[in-house]
Amino acid sequence: RERKRKEGVNLLELSASFFRERMKMPEAVGARDYLSNRGLSDEIVGDFGIGYAPDDWEGLKRHLTERGINEAVQIEYGLLVHREDTGRTYDRFRDRVMFPIRDIKGRTIAFGGRVLGDAKPKYLNSPETPVFHKGRELYGLFEARQASNRLERLVIVEGYMDVVALAQFGIRNVVATLGTSTSEDHLSRLFRLVGEVVFCFDGDRAGRQAATRALETVLPLMIDGRQARFLFLPEGEDPDTLVRREGTAAFEDRITCASPLSEFLFDQAASGRDLSRVEECERYASQVLAALGKLPEGVLKSLMLGELSRRTGVDQSRFELLMARNGSTAD
Ligand code: ATP
Ligand code: MN
Ligand code: MN
Ligand code: MN
Repeated sequence: RERKRKEGVNLLELSASFFRERMKMPEAVGARDYLSNRGLSDEIVGDFGIGYAPDDWEGLKRHLTERGINEAVQIEYGLLVHREDTGRTYDRFRDRVMFPIRDIKGRTIAFGGRVLGDAKPKYLNSPETPVFHKGRELYGLFEARQASNRLERLVIVEGYMDVVALAQFGIRNVVATLGTSTSEDHLSRLFRLVGEVVFCFDGDRAGRQAATRALETVLPLMIDGRQARFLFLPEGEDPDTLVRREGTAAFEDRITCASPLSEFLFDQAASGRDLSRVEECERYASQVLAALGKLPEGVLKSLMLGELSRRTGVDQSRFELLMARNGSTAD
């Protein structure tokens, strides 16, 4: 078992260097053009170990097999696909720009591959393997820590390209979830490293929904003075398009001005409601209370109850009573 794991680790490193080497070949001219059209320099491509999977059904398979890695392991680690019906095996990643996903120590554990054009699927990720659990990993965390040994805050974005584009513009404290929503596990890992996270999702419907889910997820983790803030991008923009349009300083300003959790929470509950109407104000208060019920006991919670009381004109003690009652019925 241990031997198999070692074989897997070796295979992942061999694959990463295979993709990097291929990026230098004449056949990768399209991939290199693609990256330079997206504004990425050789230096950033190097820092992130970005490579190219050739347009070949068996290029990687041959490379690995010649180096003594058997097909079963290649399949187990997601580089090779086995078709049950024909019994044939072939490379999972073909003619794609390859982003190695690294663990916190810099070991390659999986890949994300992007098509060069508009074909579908746009991104293809490694499947779950013995070393890769999609819901746990964060793209760019190793690179962010390489860039600075005194990280104070991390920005969470949606995509590989967002991480790499921001790095290209000198903003290197950025990580991405891998096509999944931000989990409690992701967040507790980040809060072990930094005191502040800034959520920055795309300026589209999906991005706004992701922010709402992120709020729910982060609430129970708000202890010890941790900070969580929310950055909303203009409609149709993602961090990659925006930083290229506005530049580093403007994007950094947006990060600095991102809404604190408390502000987002109150705004969200108020949105679409006319708080001068009694019933709508009541629903507003219940929504805020429900969210506050997820906050750990502490100063933040008390302050937010006080704020709710100011905003609604209802006595704080009333809310405390309600909250205690909600808490006991929930259990
Ligand atoms: P690009 O700028 O390269 O077009 P993006 O990162 O802006 O890509 P989005 O459509 O905003 O792409 O998706 C955000 C992230 O969600 C991607 O970076 C990727 O991790 C994941 N994702 C998107 N489409 C797919 C897909 N078809 N399969 C798996 N993951 C995907
Ligand atoms: Mn999007
Ligand atoms: Mn996007
Ligand atoms: Mn994008």
